[in-house]
Amino acid sequence: METKKTIGNEQIDEAICPLCGGDNRCGYLANPHAGTCWCVHDFPKEIVERVPEHLKGKACICPECVERFKAGKR
Ligand SMILES: [Zn+2]
Repeated sequence: METKKTIGNEQIDEAICPLCGGDNRCGYLANPHAGTCWCVHDFPKEIVERVPEHLKGKACICPECVERFKAGKR
């Protein structure tokens, strides 16, 4: 499945985590008809601040990064 998009000069891959560059395993991409993804709920707003501006709202952050983020703060 083609997940790459070109926005301006940037190549955006919606399946790639913008924080670590790994597969984000977004449930919404895997099955758009499900209409939901693990990332829709249980997603700390603060972690979105770490996503580069041009990638915000474009690609999901992977579960590993969310877990790492949660583990790193208390
Ligand atoms: Zn990640």
